[in-house]
Amino acid sequence: MQTAVRGHENPALDVAWMAARQLGLSLVICSCLLAGHPHANDRRWSFLLEGLRDAGDELERRGGALFLHIQRSGGSPAHSWQGMLSLARGATLTVTEDMPVEPHRGWTLAITEALNSRQQEHDSGVIDLTDERDTVGSSGGGLWAVDTACVVPCIQVGRAYERAFAFRSATAGYRSAAMGMLQRYNKFDGIGLGDVTLSEGQVGWMDGWDVIKANSQTLSSIAEIVADTPVDHTVPPSPSLSGGAAGYAQWEVFKSSGRLKNYAKTRNDILTPDGVSRLSPYHHWGMVSPFRIAREGAAVYKFQDEFLVWRELAYSFCHYRYPQHSTLDGVPKWARDTLQQHAADAREALPLAQLEGASTGDPVWDAAQRCLNRHGELHNNIRMTWAKAILRWAPTPGDALQWAIHLNHKYALDGCDPCSYAGILWCFGQFDGPKSPERPIFGRVRGRPTSIHNAKLAGYRRIVDRDTYGAARRTP
Ligand SMILES: Cc1cc2nc3c(=O)[nH]c(=O)nc-3n(C[C@H](O)[C@H](O)[C@H](O)COP(=O)(O)OP(=O)(O)OC[C@H]3O[C@@H](n4cnc5c(N)ncnc54)[C@H](O)[C@@H]3O)c2cc1C
Repeated sequence: MQTAVRGHENPALDVAWMAARQLGLSLVICSCLLAGHPHANDRRWSFLLEGLRDAGDELERRGGALFLHIQRSGGSPAHSWQGMLSLARGATLTVTEDMPVEPHRGWTLAITEALNSRQQEHDSGVIDLTDERDTVGSSGGGLWAVDTACVVPCIQVGRAYERAFAFRSATAGYRSAAMGMLQRYNKFDGIGLGDVTLSEGQVGWMDGWDVIKANSQTLSSIAEIVADTPVDHTVPPSPSLSGGAAGYAQWEVFKSSGRLKNYAKTRNDILTPDGVSRLSPYHHWGMVSPFRIAREGAAVYKFQDEFLVWRELAYSFCHYRYPQHSTLDGVPKWARDTLQQHAADAREALPLAQLEGASTGDPVWDAAQRCLNRHGELHNNIRMTWAKAILRWAPTPGDALQWAIHLNHKYALDGCDPCSYAGILWCFGQFDGPKSPERPIFGRVRGRPTSIHNAKLAGYRRIVDRDTYGAARRTP
């Protein structure tokens, strides 16, 4: 359980449960916090652990259990990784989430490769795996990656789309069929897991691999646990959003206050932080069911379009364009060419540290970066302007892209997501067409000067400089 941190409406959990029942095997649900995550920090780990705590409680209510390995300070990364591998090697089947971007995709591929090479050694008689596995005679040892995030699974989409309108129309039929099927998905939620779940002592953990059962007792002091992990401690937890079940509380208020109904009118106003759902961090970790949000948001066309078209466009784009999705090779040729043709244009070179310190001297941009640094959130309207402006200061367009990815992933609670790459690449011409007139630095990539926000700057600064962003307040 890595990116669908929930005990309900979880296709990976359902597949694992059904496979265990069909094969007469037992089920071990496990999550690993590896410090090898390139953007592991207090903000990300606190939010994730809050989600794991709530998912652990939820699974216990269903008679199951969530086992959690956290790489601690002084612990060896290799040992953490070996523990995860040994678990996969000992299993007849490993089921995980199909997350199309790093670090999860790389981890999934590495485990698959390790399992395959071990299977080849077994098949050629070099090693005997028969006693090692919790198996009923099958040679097993496979890994299944299940799409837990999209209403139209990436595999069904079939390819990467370059424009939202093309994706929207090509997937419309699948989407409406899937929405029909998902109406009653929550009927699985009551099914008990106790008959297939192993207790802690029954699992063959690797010697010395530190595992706890995640629930609100074992994770009652998340701040202390995070302090004892080898992650970046310079990025503090969000003052506004707590992970886990808080996501649904936020969603309920969004619906009952009428803000969902007014979404099309308020979604672009940077002075109305709660005019949007602010659920993207919960979607990133799968702490709320995307299927429930799709069902309950279905009546509001604009919301549904952002959620089911733009978000799922991002997932399938990353799925089929990996690993180019994180480089300028991911944008169309016209955009790459025009940025390259203007790469030598005069620009005000600033070091990345100055951007990270929100001290470029551009008041709009600095306010946006301060919002990211303090709150871990950035309104989509100013986020587009924010990423495009980086082209003005980075040495090359390629550097600008990497700086945007770095700043986004390090500070944004929803960072490291397929939507991160799609959103950032949009600022560099992806999912868009060439614009006229051609301008310095940007060439034919759509411009968005920071001055478009000048009229709202004073109000925006007041929002950014408050203790919390919008109405939500973190309850650790
Ligand atoms: C430069 C840049 C960087 C971005 N980085 C991220 C990121 O790291 N993680 C992330 O989830 N999104 C990212 N986005 C997309 C968008 O900014 C966020 O999804 C949105 O602001 C989240 O706020 P919300 O949950 O209130 O969205 P709402 O407006 O309430 O929309 C509901 C949901 O729809 C999805 N959604 C909304 N807008 C978009 C969009 N433009 N593209 C894809 N999905 C969308 C999100 O899952 C969101 O939670 C980025 C956009 C840009 C321009």
